[in-house]
Amino acid sequence: MIPPLFDLPPNPIIPVVGMGSGFPVGRIFCVGRNYAAHAAEMGVDVDRERPFYFTKSASHAVLSGAELPYPRGTENFHHEIELAVALGAPLDDLTDAAIQSAIFGYCTALDMTRRDLQLRERQKQRPWSLGKDLEGGAVFAPITSAAEWTPTDDTHIWLNVNGDQRQTARLGDLVWSITDLIRHLSGYYRLQAGDVLLTGTPAGVGPVIAGDTLTGGINGLSDIALTITNSA
Ligand code: MN
Repeated sequence: MIPPLFDLPPNPIIPVVGMGSGFPVGRIFCVGRNYAAHAAEMGVDVDRERPFYFTKSASHAVLSGAELPYPRGTENFHHEIELAVALGAPLDDLTDAAIQSAIFGYCTALDMTRRDLQLRERQKQRPWSLGKDLEGGAVFAPITSAAEWTPTDDTHIWLNVNGDQRQTARLGDLVWSITDLIRHLSGYYRLQAGDVLLTGTPAGVGPVIAGDTLTGGINGLSDIALTITNSA
């Protein structure tokens, strides 16, 4: 292999609760409209025929506790709290058992969104990349291994901004289950270790501004925090 002309910053390694090694982020897949109440607040219906996806660059991931400069090119920067699923192995087949054994663990994540750009592009039937794939736009709390934690329908997911609750739901509100999503996405990608799937956000998304502190969580997983600072 020839040497690189220059070095790139390394992609983040997500800490794993109780382990000395971390999870290297490979690809970041995100599901759209996976809570009916969020789809409704976005003025669209849930597509119950099949889920749909967008992606974020792994180089745009940051860890919980980060300070994120208010991004360029937007006047409506939104929070989305989500459950993330981290894969630790390729899928041998698409049975429930094989899918479960490929899941390394779970964490709380933020899908930070330039909502004005997402909606502008959506209206023109253009890709959402400017709205979704932004520097620091994927935020990850430490991962808990699947041996230590399992999502249930009653598991609570929530987000506060400056201590005020903005988003709250139960994981039972997911339209497409984690198993459904991994099985469907496997029809398009050879999923493998390092792949991370954000499973969609509940209702209550809204804007943040410089100076805001976001805190969120999913019962039983590590909490997430993010502070928005002035544009850099
Ligand atoms: Mn999202």
